[in-house]
Amino acid sequence: MTTLFDHPEFDDHRQVVFCNDDKTGLKAIIAIHNTDLGPSLGGCRMYPYATEDDAVTDVLRLSKGMTYKSAIAGLPLGGGKSIIVGDPRRDKHPELFSSMGRFVDSLGGRYIVAEDSGTSQEDMSLIRQATPYAAGVRGDPSPYTARGVFQGIKAAVRHLHGRRDLEGIRVAIQGIGNVGSSLASLLHGAGARLWISDVHEEQLTRAADELGATIVEPGLILDQDVEVFAPCAMGAVLDERAVRRLRAEIVAGAANNQLAGPDQGRLLQQRGILYAPDYVVNAGGVIAVWYEYSGGNPEALPAEVDRIYATLTEIFERSEMQREPTSDVADQMAKSRIANREADDPPGRLAISH
Ligand code: NAD
Repeated sequence: MTTLFDHPEFDDHRQVVFCNDDKTGLKAIIAIHNTDLGPSLGGCRMYPYATEDDAVTDVLRLSKGMTYKSAIAGLPLGGGKSIIVGDPRRDKHPELFSSMGRFVDSLGGRYIVAEDSGTSQEDMSLIRQATPYAAGVRGDPSPYTARGVFQGIKAAVRHLHGRRDLEGIRVAIQGIGNVGSSLASLLHGAGARLWISDVHEEQLTRAADELGATIVEPGLILDQDVEVFAPCAMGAVLDERAVRRLRAEIVAGAANNQLAGPDQGRLLQQRGILYAPDYVVNAGGVIAVWYEYSGGNPEALPAEVDRIYATLTEIFERSEMQREPTSDVADQMAKSRIANREADDPPGRLAISH
């Protein structure tokens, strides 16, 4: 029998809590990957996982990703994530989230829960009635995630071409959802030309009408003759075949876990494609959530998100110097920030106001 400790995605996680409440029907898992830099913060995903192993795999991977994301963003946070097993369209009821809130509360602040796919601000408000350890109840963080990705694209273009503007730069965006549509507006405002795909028609036509974007079949987005590919839909989009097909010279997008496996980072490098590591470029949302939760000055928030530009520039330069993939360099930097926490001057070292 495979145990949690020898699960392929287990990576010295500090604590994994299986939550079961037969009165409300809640079945959930909270995974705390690391708390060296501060309490673990991460979203609560609701999804109808087919098997328990699917749920465990997801929560272990995602919580580890949050550790790296917060560390490299300079936040005083560890990494955690939670999942609720269920269909968000059918299985939601208020008691489910009150129950989840009580489980979060029982961890005494080691895990701070936030919104994620399948959960909403309304669900977070219900959780918040049971625990103060719930963030992201006031606003949608997607515009900040898009702002960070926009900075990432600017940093990549500057690194490759030495130019500071995006006038005429061709960008293919996969997924015109919350982040993708905000990103499209920012890019359009900067004079970029857009190719967009989505599995939902409505968002596409709106973006095409308003931004003059060209609509592309979902299966053809990788083949576009563009400078930038921005994956803003789902994870694991860059497997070996996809990387070989890609015509863009830059990959920078919001999706989590874009690389299907650890080899894809090197393959991208070998193909001369500049990859902005996903958890670096998509950290704008968690920065915003942390600012709100910790009572940070909202006026300072945009500048904090814009630091993604400098972090990525450092990663690109180190990658060139060390001849290592940007994904490996980012992992090294995140790990070293956790190991040498005193050496850093993180932007969000703010007291928790709860
Ligand atoms: P969203 O659900 O609003 O948008 C995703 C869009 O992708 C939807 O419009 C969906 O129809 C589309 N899509 C799904 N499959 C597709 C396919 N095969 N081809 C093209 N389009 C497809 O989600 P979002 O909040 O915009 O987040 C986008 C991605 O960024 C997700 O992977 C999310 O985990 C990640 N992310 C989001 C945030 C945030 O602040 N929202 C922060 C960090 C990471």
